[in-house]
Amino acid sequence: MIYVDNAATTRLDEDALEAMKPYLTGFYGNASQPYFFAKPVRKALAAARETIASCIGAKPNEIYFTSGGTESDNWAIKGSAFGDAEKRVTITSQIEHHAVLRACAAIQRLGYPVIYLPVSSDGTVQPETLKQYLTSKTRLVSVMLANNEIGTIEPIAELAKIARENGALFHTDAVQAVGHIPIDVQELGVDMLSASAHKFNGMKGSGFLYIKQGIEIPSYLDGGSQERGKRAGTENIAAIVAMAVALKKNYDRMETTAKKLNALEQILLNRLANAGIDFRRNGAPCHLPGNVNISIKSSDGEMLLHRLDLKGICISTGSACDSVNTRVSHVIEAIRVPEIYAKGAIRITFGVENSVEDAINIADSLVDILHANNGA
Ligand code: PLP
Repeated sequence: MIYVDNAATTRLDEDALEAMKPYLTGFYGNASQPYFFAKPVRKALAAARETIASCIGAKPNEIYFTSGGTESDNWAIKGSAFGDAEKRVTITSQIEHHAVLRACAAIQRLGYPVIYLPVSSDGTVQPETLKQYLTSKTRLVSVMLANNEIGTIEPIAELAKIARENGALFHTDAVQAVGHIPIDVQELGVDMLSASAHKFNGMKGSGFLYIKQGIEIPSYLDGGSQERGKRAGTENIAAIVAMAVALKKNYDRMETTAKKLNALEQILLNRLANAGIDFRRNGAPCHLPGNVNISIKSSDGEMLLHRLDLKGICISTGSACDSVNTRVSHVIEAIRVPEIYAKGAIRITFGVENSVEDAINIADSLVDILHANNGA
C-alpha cells in the first residue's frame, strides 16, 4: 500500500505512541484532582503545553487544548462573533476548510454578517483584496495559513497587519501548516491560530487553539473549569502528550523533511510530464512541502482515485472530509481552473514515510491508467 493522503491524516508517530502509553493505564488520574496520584498527569499536561507553545513562539497560557481543528475553528469564529454585541462583520476567504466556512454560515444565520474574499488563480488571498473589504465595522478576519487542497501558503503576516491596523481580530486556520512549516505567532501577528494533532503525526481528535494573551473570547464549552475556564471537559492527557512529542519531532526534522518532500514532488511531476500527460498544477509556488494538486486534462479525479485505489495507492480528489461529494471542490472552483481540467483534479500529499520508489510508482500507475482510459 502507498499512502499519499497525508493532508487528510497522518500515521501516529511511534515515539508519540510510546510517550502516551503510560497515561492510558498507569497515570490515568484526572488532572483536576488535587491528590498525589494526579500530580504526574498535571505535570505532563503542563510540559506538553510548554513544548507546544515553544514550537509556535507562544506562551504556555496562550494554548487551549481542544478536540482538533474543527473545534478550534468553530471556537475562533463563533467565539469572536458571540463576544461582540455590535454584531460586526467577519471576513474570511472562499477557499477555507468547511470547519471555517460552515461556522461562518452558522453565525450568518444568527444575523452576523460574513464576507467571503475571492482569491487569485493560485489560491492567494491578496492583501489588496482584504483592504477593499475591511472597514471599521470588521470584527474578525479569518484566513487559513495553508490551504488543505492546493497547499498555497497565504501571506498571513501581511493580512494580519492590515486587520490589526483596522482594529479587527485575526484568526488563522493553521491545521495544515503546524508541524510542516516554521510558525511563529509573534511574527505572524495573529490573535488566534487553530491546529490539529492528526495532521502532524499525533492522535486524531486532539488539537489546540492559540489565543493571544489579552484577547477576550467567550468560552466554547461550558462545564468544568479546565483550560483556565475557557474550554470545559476532562483533558485527553494521552493524546495531548502524544501531540507534544509529535510536534516537537516534526519541528526538529522540518528542514530535512521539507527537502525530501520537495524532491518527491519533482520526481512525480517530471515523470508525468515526460510521459506526455497534459496536466496543470494547482496552487502557488509558495506551497506546503509534499502537496501536489494537479488537474489532468479531460480526466475525472474520482475515476483516478478509484483506479489508483485498486493498485493500493491512496490519494484524494478534494477535501478529505468531503470525499463523498463528487462535485468540483469549492477551492478548484474559486481558483477558476478551466472546465476541461477542473474535474480531473487530484491531490497527492507526500509524508515523511514516503520514498522515491513511491513517487515513481504513483507516476507510473497514473500514466498506465490514463493511457488505458484513452485507449478504451
Ligand atoms: N482545517 C483544515 C485546513 C483542515 O485541513 C482540516 C481537516 O482536514 C480541518 C480544519 C479540520 O480538522 P480536524 O480534522 O482536526 O477536525
